[in-house]
Amino acid sequence: MKKWKVGILGATGSVGQRFVQLLENHEFFEVTHLAASDKSAGNVYGDVMASRWKVSNNIPEYAKKIKVSKCSPSDTPGVNLVFSGLDSSIAGEVETEYAKAGIMVISNSKNHRNDTDVPILSAEVNPGHLEILNYQATPGKIITNSNCTIMGVTITLKPIFEKFGIESVVLFSMQAISGAGYPGVPSLDILGNVVPHIGGEEEKAEFEPLKCLGKLENGQIVPADFKISAHCNRVPVIDGHTVCVSIKLKKQATIEEIKKVWNEFEGEPQKLKLPSAPAKVIDYREEIDRPQPRLDLMSGNGMATTVGRLRKDTVLDFKYVLLSHNTIRGAAGAAILNAELIYKKGLNKAG
Ligand code: NAP
Repeated sequence: MKKWKVGILGATGSVGQRFVQLLENHEFFEVTHLAASDKSAGNVYGDVMASRWKVSNNIPEYAKKIKVSKCSPSDTPGVNLVFSGLDSSIAGEVETEYAKAGIMVISNSKNHRNDTDVPILSAEVNPGHLEILNYQATPGKIITNSNCTIMGVTITLKPIFEKFGIESVVLFSMQAISGAGYPGVPSLDILGNVVPHIGGEEEKAEFEPLKCLGKLENGQIVPADFKISAHCNRVPVIDGHTVCVSIKLKKQATIEEIKKVWNEFEGEPQKLKLPSAPAKVIDYREEIDRPQPRLDLMSGNGMATTVGRLRKDTVLDFKYVLLSHNTIRGAAGAAILNAELIYKKGLNKAG
């Protein structure tokens, strides 16, 4: 199959830089356009990013020479699809403009996640929700990722939900600074500190897993029918969101049975051998003090969800800890995996 020409909207931000890095020499996609705000547009990416590149040693060579465009379909001609890492103040409007122009949008922003005809897609969890694209009125379709904290939570809940059912979940997040973009949280607020509030995060954490685990009925996603209570905190870690989860099940289960469903969990990305699919979706660690961001962040090239400390809970049934890379699995990597699934299934009319 021919490679699709793709653009990255918000290419200068934390998520945008990950896209630029992860799409270097991609098997299915060729990056032809990098777009950002008016203040970055007009100069080549290498110059714009000279002191802003933060995700690896060097800016990939292919990207350095691309002139940064404005974020509009007329400024990014010829693309089959755009990845969006745009700030939410602008993402909704710009993404709709692309969809109206017939260009598929794979977004990391929150703006369209609650639209009834837009899936919050996690390629291993709910690939069936892609069917809802048929109900979107625009010629180009919009697909979103879940919030970065929720990505790993939903992945660990999915096999439990399928096998045992879920009554309720209580979760407590410890979220990395890079989750707030760049330059993000001021150093004087976060160094040696914990901030027990992240605007809008708990509401997302309490809704998005339910939509991901929901059923498609008559062109609508009916959310799963359990309750989630979330406490979200910012901690002085650079990358990687850690979440402590307590869970009450509908059917009885043992620790060994839960570990087994996690261990065996795989989805279409693994069956189709998609380039960004981790071999093991859930990487369970038996050590008593894992997962830890410093040790486990890059499991499965940053695409696996590392889990540990599954044990009995004295109030609900079980509790465990998970770690997920927020700008890879929680953002750019997951968006690329979604696009790989769509490419492989031939679901983009503009492709
Ligand atoms: P960021 O570092 O602040 O980057 C924001 C990007 O948006 C930059 O490229 C910026 O371009 C561009 N932008 C801002 N205002 C614009 C405008 N008026 N017109 C066009 N472009 C504009 O943010 P981020 O952390 O990468 O997050 C990007 C999106 O992904 C957000 O919606 C966020 O909620 C979501 N997200 C982030 C993470 C994470 O871990 N960071 C994870 C999941 C989802 P300039 O540089 O030119 O200003």
